[in-house]
Amino acid sequence: MIENLPWRTITHYGLHLLAPLLIALFFKKEHRVKAYLIMLATIVVDLDHLFADPIFDPNRMSIGFHPLHSYFAIAIYVIMCVIPYEKLHWPWWLRAIGVGLVFHMITDWQDYVLWL
Ligand SMILES: [Zn+2]
Repeated sequence: MIENLPWRTITHYGLHLLAPLLIALFFKKEHRVKAYLIMLATIVVDLDHLFADPIFDPNRMSIGFHPLHSYFAIAIYVIMCVIPYEKLHWPWWLRAIGVGLVFHMITDWQDYVLWL
């Protein structure tokens, strides 16, 4: 439904830009700004679209199509969300990357499933 496109685009980028702002509140106070910026930066996973032809197709489901949007990749992103970083003394921002990527996938998923 092409007449949906402006609202669909606003929702898509709204989720990409604003949702991480809310999610950042779940991080420790001193990490919130960095967590937000890291989650914003996870949009670079869309670079995998460059391997597709056409690069952008509003009628194509990204999930399961592009390599960094594959179910295997998503499984890794989910694991990145639940690793006990503090116990392992691993850097906390790895979780921000994982959460950002999982939310990115949810955003791309809703863009297809809820709007077409
Ligand atoms: Zn994407």
